[in-house]
Amino acid sequence: MNNIKRKYKRVSNELRTTYNELEILEKEDMVKRYIKLKEKEEKLEEKKMEIYEELQLNIYSTCNHIFACSYTECDYYEGRTYRYYGCVKCGLDTIIYSDLYYDLSVGKEKIMDDFFKQTLGKTESIRHYVACFKIIDRDYAKVKEIYDEIKNKRLSDSELQIILESKLDDENKEKQKKLVLW
Ligand SMILES: [Zn+2]
Repeated sequence: MNNIKRKYKRVSNELRTTYNELEILEKEDMVKRYIKLKEKEEKLEEKKMEIYEELQLNIYSTCNHIFACSYTECDYYEGRTYRYYGCVKCGLDTIIYSDLYYDLSVGKEKIMDDFFKQTLGKTESIRHYVACFKIIDRDYAKVKEIYDEIKNKRLSDSELQIILESKLDDENKEKQKKLVLW
């Protein structure tokens, strides 16, 4: 017991000395400037994040999405399969509502969740929202890879979709050929 009391007293004294030293330092011009800059840094980071969110929301709302299947979840209990879709153009993805994600309060998950909430209101479902756009029912990574290859070719949205699908078809044919050869 005495030992703990001694320890407590020692640390308390050390802390008091530290407070005093900090107080003296905080009066120095250089340190005052440092503290001000740190406050400014914090505010600017907050502001940057706000603008980034606004920018992303704008990108999501103006994108003529091309959705591909980003994740499939099987509910063996109900015997159902749920498919989640991501846009290969802007990255908006319903995958945030799958069992892979549980915290939608930070980062890009929060921005996407905010976007869906703002866009869909209370009545429209995400499934309905996705169905309003082009859906390519193929693996997201594959569609994204081909999209990235052709995205800089100044194509209209419909041309982009046609080329994307024909390239995916070609690839499928190649795969089937290989299977036959084997
Ligand atoms: Zn999009």
